[in-house]
Amino acid sequence: MSVFVQKFGGTSVGTTEKIKAVADKIAGFRDQGHDIVVVVSAMSGETNRLIGLASEIQGHPDPREMDVLVSTGEQVTIALLCMALKDRGYDARSYTGGQVKILTDDAHTKARIQDIDVVNMRADLDAGRVVVVAGFQGVDDGGNITTLGRGGSDTTGVALAAALKADECQIYTDVDGVYTTDPRVVDGARRLERVTFEEMLEMASSGSKVLQIRAVEFAGKYNVPLRVLHSFQEGQGTLITLDEENGSMEQPVVSGIAFNRDEAKISILGVPDAPGVASQVLAPVGDANVEIDVIVQNIAADNTADLTFTCNRSDMEKAKAVVQKVADELKAREVVADDKIAKISIVGVGMRSHAGVASKMFKTLAAENINIQMITTSEIKISVIIAEKYLELAVRALHSAFGLDQA
Ligand code: ADP
Ligand code: ASP
Ligand code: MG
Repeated sequence: MSVFVQKFGGTSVGTTEKIKAVADKIAGFRDQGHDIVVVVSAMSGETNRLIGLASEIQGHPDPREMDVLVSTGEQVTIALLCMALKDRGYDARSYTGGQVKILTDDAHTKARIQDIDVVNMRADLDAGRVVVVAGFQGVDDGGNITTLGRGGSDTTGVALAAALKADECQIYTDVDGVYTTDPRVVDGARRLERVTFEEMLEMASSGSKVLQIRAVEFAGKYNVPLRVLHSFQEGQGTLITLDEENGSMEQPVVSGIAFNRDEAKISILGVPDAPGVASQVLAPVGDANVEIDVIVQNIAADNTADLTFTCNRSDMEKAKAVVQKVADELKAREVVADDKIAKISIVGVGMRSHAGVASKMFKTLAAENINIQMITTSEIKISVIIAEKYLELAVRALHSAFGLDQA
């Protein structure tokens, strides 16, 4: 008999029929004698609908009220799922984040979990109940409802598994595991049997939304066995593992390709090439709460420099306005912004011990006539910024160049 935390994403609970199917699945696990804590997302589309309502009312919705609003989506699904379980003769009890007491900091809309009270959940499991917890939400120490950022139900699942010392955290979704790249974009994408935490972290932070990045961080930190599976198809899914040796089964140099269309690029051209200029430009951007991703600086022959950085697309106008102010002070030549870009990242622990990966990536893109605008690397990742219109072509070309296509 094992304890499993099972998280079901939005599409898996998108209709009452699907909620009933999830209840059938959980009933099956109960029949096998397992203790089950379920975490559910809002029904698919619901979180976006709620965010849309807020934006019709207030330009920049108040963060505290935003959390009160968007947390309602998950409250609907916990109740409906418990009703479905009871209808099948299985005792179950629903909890909002605050009722469990998933304590978070007070950073509304992107709160971090600090502590989880397991007393009630343990008592329910001991009494033979299925525990159903609302994903994505918690409560701060002032009693305010908080949420964990988009995709945050994954993190709720992993955090509960860590707190309960569960045997496995199972993330049930609309694909049957983690693939070499998004299977909705590349037909030949292949499911991975295993992937290391480190690789999964780079994939998640580079745009693979199959797992929220904080969920992977959390699982790595607390060594939570984590598996991604299809909600309604049988299979082993993908195990996220600490073990680098047995990580990616065939030990390829590149394990996966992630991409992100959510970035925009801002360049400030013709700034003085002098100490302190980069911080003069970038510090105010950070102060405006705009997260910067890739940064590139090039020096021209005339002692001026061009500085380019990327940020989230939704922050582009804000960042451009901030940079324009600095540009006026520094008498820079021009500020230009471009939101028609995309970032592609190739990821693999095998890169540590193999040379020539970057040049192969660049050659592959050149062969498709795709211009690389920016490059950044880490130990196990190489990312490039290209024009968004070439994204799919580039992902496909790299997928086959690095031998990731299905046999
Ligand atoms: P859920 O609603 O269950 O949380 P998400 O939509 O957040 O599901 O995540 C699942 C989606 O992630 C898949 O439908 C797929 O399109 C996308 N995805 C992106 N990259 C990958 C990848 N490498 N492997 C599997 N799925 C991926
Ligand atoms: N419902 C939230 C979202 O859509 C959280 C989640 O599904 O993980 O982002
Ligand atoms: Mg998700």
